[in-house]
Amino acid sequence: MEFCAATGNAGKLKEIRRILQRQGHTVKSQKELGIMLEPEETGETFSENALIKAKAICQVCGMPTIADDSGLMVKALGGAPGVYSARYCGRHGDDEANNDKLLAALAQVAPGERQAKFVSAVCVYLPGGKNAIYLGECPGMVAFERHGTNGFGYDPIFIPDEVGLPDGTTCANTQKRSYAQLTDQEKDAISHRGNAMRRMEQELFKLLEQQV
Ligand code: IMP
Repeated sequence: MEFCAATGNAGKLKEIRRILQRQGHTVKSQKELGIMLEPEETGETFSENALIKAKAICQVCGMPTIADDSGLMVKALGGAPGVYSARYCGRHGDDEANNDKLLAALAQVAPGERQAKFVSAVCVYLPGGKNAIYLGECPGMVAFERHGTNGFGYDPIFIPDEVGLPDGTTCANTQKRSYAQLTDQEKDAISHRGNAMRRMEQELFKLLEQQV
């Protein structure tokens, strides 16, 4: 199927594209389709925001559209930054400032108390209005400093509990590598977005079969 990926976030687009391509789909970004619209994320949950974005872009491009709304939930901060992850520092999309603020907020939090999870809600919205949301999570902890240079966002300071192996299975992250120290394959096999999109792959047929 050909999807429009409803995101202006280059890091997120790269991941959505490579996962969908691996699943046999093709992807056009909203930018490639000339759509500059950035729907306001007024929802209180990842699912609400994913639906807002996928619906708004689908109504403009007229193609099956996929949107991801995601973020990091830190236990010691009562689930923050959560849906505000992209704008935690007060500006939208300033990854460095977001990481600085989170590291500072957790500076006095002990190693055993730094649990966090990444959450992704992936919405597929079809012309005509049929839609579905697929959820994925990835548990881990927040590091004390940045490690690695791959990826985007909070990748350098998030240490997932598991990592992917070349044969597609997973194992414990005994070396405590951050998301930003993993290869694309190692991240996609265990990441929140990878998990949500695997669920999508398994369940997309139900959406396509649904009568309007
Ligand atoms: P939104 O879904 O556009 O509201 O933004 C999600 C924000 O969460 C991003 O700007 C990143 O800061 C963060 N985020 C989501 N997924 C990831 C990821 O895979 N790695 C690192 N940060 C992420």
